[in-house]
Amino acid sequence: MQTENLIIGGGISGLYLAYKLTQQKKDFLLVEARDRLGGRIDTHQGLDLGPTWFWPGQRRMSDLAKELDIPVFEQQNKGDMLYEDPNVQSERIPSQQYQMTSYRAEGGISRFTQGLEDKISSDKILLNHQVTTISKTDNGVIVSFSQESTNTPITAKQIFLALPPRLVARNISFNPTLGGKVEKSMVSIPTWMAGQAKAVIQFEHPFWQDQNLSGQAFSRLGPLMEIHDASASSDAPYALFGFIGGTPKQRKEMREEQLKAAITQQIIRLYGTDTPTPLNITIKDWSGDKLTSTEDDMEPLSSHPNYGLPKAMINLWNGQLIFSGTEVASAEGGYLEGALVAAEDAISHMT
Ligand SMILES: Cc1cc2nc3c(=O)[nH]c(=O)nc-3n(C[C@H](O)[C@H](O)[C@H](O)COP(=O)(O)OP(=O)(O)OC[C@H]3O[C@@H](n4cnc5c(N)ncnc54)[C@H](O)[C@@H]3O)c2cc1C
Repeated sequence: MQTENLIIGGGISGLYLAYKLTQQKKDFLLVEARDRLGGRIDTHQGLDLGPTWFWPGQRRMSDLAKELDIPVFEQQNKGDMLYEDPNVQSERIPSQQYQMTSYRAEGGISRFTQGLEDKISSDKILLNHQVTTISKTDNGVIVSFSQESTNTPITAKQIFLALPPRLVARNISFNPTLGGKVEKSMVSIPTWMAGQAKAVIQFEHPFWQDQNLSGQAFSRLGPLMEIHDASASSDAPYALFGFIGGTPKQRKEMREEQLKAAITQQIIRLYGTDTPTPLNITIKDWSGDKLTSTEDDMEPLSSHPNYGLPKAMINLWNGQLIFSGTEVASAEGGYLEGALVAAEDAISHMT
């Protein structure tokens, strides 16, 4: 199989790139290792297990929402928030403090990836294609896949690596090798949120709203360290979501049922003993997902890294290998907006 441009990775960055190449009438194929598109974007029945928000000033995300006709609403923050630590039991904090505007997509953030997919011809997208080897030859770059994927390699003039650089470094072999400097650079770039885990707790009714609570809570006891309202704007599903604390190693030591029980107890501790029983609790630990996270991502990050494309990773193989993906974005790296920036950056590097 042959193409001019091969995009590796069907997260929002790779899909946005594919959308832009479609608009420019360029020849391309997109290969994705998973059996679904979206990458870190993962919405189940309207509830987000990966990213949730974008923020004011992130104009590419808001423009794309308009372009794809995606209804957007402000994160529900009305009402007091709650706080707990070893000395403080479920303290109410008035809502005017600590509020920050953020936006969500009606139906979940996968509306963006679904909307992009709808604009791309389906024969340009190949799912279940996990790239293992990339080789430079006189006739172009040959990309091969894991045995479970396919035996048919793809030859391309230009390759777009729309995935976290650590996944490229750890899971893809290059022939000839990229060299120590490039490999070191790739490994040094943390994959944003790769070591995180999220829990979505669904309820029949948004009971916290009846108590003039925003649903937002901060805890130094856990297991959830930060909780927010995850409900749709005006109807079901109704849910809270929280980031689970601890390191990936600590989380691995706990059975899922134990963790769910501890989450239920925490919700009761925070919101009161008459809290209704959750309809269900869904947990997604991204640190255990091999198509997002590597061993290098097991140490929690203390702050948002300074992202961007390191010098060593520019103009590889005379410009035939181009990085995309939020971790190499020239602005807003790590975020959804950064994934769009990175795709635009990658296009500007095309020959
Ligand atoms: C829990 C969590 C919460 C977050 N919250 C927010 C938020 O609220 N707001 C925000 O802006 N950002 C948030 N983020 C970050 C956001 O998810 C990312 O910025 C964005 O999704 C990155 O998109 P991407 O396309 O660059 O990478 P990815 O989504 O990681 O896409 C890479 C793709 O490459 C594929 N792939 C991997 N290896 C191979 C291979 N060998 N061959 C072929 N394909 C391969 C993967 O399957 C994946 O589909 C969050 C992330 C997580 C995990």
